[in-house]
Amino acid sequence: MSHIVCFDIGGTFIKYGVFNPKSHLLVKSKMATPTSHEIPDVLNKKVKSLQHDFHISAIGISSCGLVDREKGMILFSNNIQGYSGMKLGEILFSLTQIPVSVENDVKSACLGEMWKGAVKDKRNAVFLTLGTGIGSSIVMDGRIVNGSSGLAGELGHTVVVAGGKSCSCGRKGCLERYASTSAFVQDYKEEALQNGMTGEDVPGETIMELVMRADPIALAVYQRFIHYISMGLTNVIHLLNPEKIIIGGGITEGEGPFIQDINIQLRNEVMDVYGNEDTVIASSLGNDAGLYGACYLALNRMNMKESV
Ligand SMILES: [Zn+2]
Repeated sequence: MSHIVCFDIGGTFIKYGVFNPKSHLLVKSKMATPTSHEIPDVLNKKVKSLQHDFHISAIGISSCGLVDREKGMILFSNNIQGYSGMKLGEILFSLTQIPVSVENDVKSACLGEMWKGAVKDKRNAVFLTLGTGIGSSIVMDGRIVNGSSGLAGELGHTVVVAGGKSCSCGRKGCLERYASTSAFVQDYKEEALQNGMTGEDVPGETIMELVMRADPIALAVYQRFIHYISMGLTNVIHLLNPEKIIIGGGITEGEGPFIQDINIQLRNEVMDVYGNEDTVIASSLGNDAGLYGACYLALNRMNMKESV
């Protein structure tokens, strides 16, 4: 029996899991992300230790940063210092002698959702994660849209407020500055200060609890948040006409009106001809979506894939 080990490399943690030949996730865990030059060795050691229990025939990697999937190379990362330019696939193959595939984490998560998750019977979907920024990936006709140099899908850097807040990309008014979780947290902090409260950092989940309890400050901030997300997603729907838009990230976990409120707002904004079915859904694989996508691509590389 051959197994696939998958890694999901983020700025803080590396999640990993082992899939059996039927693509069931058997075990999963996580470890702290080491310094960039230690990453190949840490992955190699983990593979070696898993080989005591599993016959591993492929390695799939879902990684933060811009990734050249053909070369298995990290083109750019601002999350892990010194990671940009690493030929991760080549180095890990030389250490393990096991085939390695590497893809960007948001694209992997999107493929994972289309393979085993929220949209597995769909061919046209957009996936976005709301976190420090906004990551997004577009799948049309069952294929990831890469663009001419792999940079398609930067929804977070489309402008929704002319002359608005300054963004890390150098422009002003990007969606990411209004509709990411960190923008939500920042907006709450500013609103609280204006209302005479201490301007402490309050996590997004806590603000959502305040929204559920109808706290007026949290509600005002939340309504702006929903407004800007819906503005961005209306643009996506009018531009790409996806069957579904999947949203991942901590803020979508647990009970709450978040997804429903976006769908209600979209009904007011999207042209009637697009229909009134709910377009937005929460990620169903959550934190495991990237691992599933990495497994899908590893199988794909070995020509063992089922298709999404
Ligand atoms: Zn920007």
